[in-house]
Amino acid sequence: MSIILVTNDDGIHSEGITALYRAMDSLGEVYVVAPEREQSAVAHALTLHRPLKVEKTGAKIYAINGTPTDCVILGVNKILHKKPALIVSGINKGGNLGDDITYSGTVAAAIEGTLLGIPSIAISLVRDIKDNGDYSVKPSGFKKAAGFAKRLAETVLKKGLPQDTLLNVNIPGIQKIKGVKLTKQGKRIYDNSVHEMSDPRGRKHYWIGGGAPLWEQGQDTDFDAVNKGFISITPVHLDLTNYNAIKYLKKNWRI
Ligand code: MN
Repeated sequence: MSIILVTNDDGIHSEGITALYRAMDSLGEVYVVAPEREQSAVAHALTLHRPLKVEKTGAKIYAINGTPTDCVILGVNKILHKKPALIVSGINKGGNLGDDITYSGTVAAAIEGTLLGIPSIAISLVRDIKDNGDYSVKPSGFKKAAGFAKRLAETVLKKGLPQDTLLNVNIPGIQKIKGVKLTKQGKRIYDNSVHEMSDPRGRKHYWIGGGAPLWEQGQDTDFDAVNKGFISITPVHLDLTNYNAIKYLKKNWRI
């Protein structure tokens, strides 16, 4: 029986991880190793300067006072009795589209899995394509998204993934999903929105985010697919090299 490791960045008590865990249950021996509290936007952070504590909260369910990356490392190396056949991260409450994947703890867990040589997928449920980080709005449709995650996991278990590649999956939180598209990573247009406020003593403080939710128009991007009502699957590789830039620099800088 295949071992499947389920993790996330919204924390062990989130609705998304419960739906994902239930969906994976019939595909193999499922372990949940997830942060004890929300770790959204921690990216690929690793905890190095304090000890990590593992708390068993149910049969094969473990909460860790660390990041999603910590969870994958401890899960694979200390908790699971065998290397998993698959790591599934999510279901994130909100999209992980375009450049935002560089902030994402959900995607980072799949990155860590890929680094360990384990086929890994990150699943996110998009509340609204114009999502501007309003975390008071809960997405609906976790169950439906989990159904798709199950089908995809089944395929990955059967066929594997190309080397050095994870799947970043974004599922629109709408009633009628039109289909599935393989996409490329899009580009968000940031307005660098930072809100400045004062505390009761007149000292300034700041909130990052909440700006206008815009993205560059372009065919075949993750934004485009989700905006049109399709599930987006972006194969992401970990080689960040810009190969065109090597050519350009060799030619123009005479390096
Ligand atoms: Mn999250």
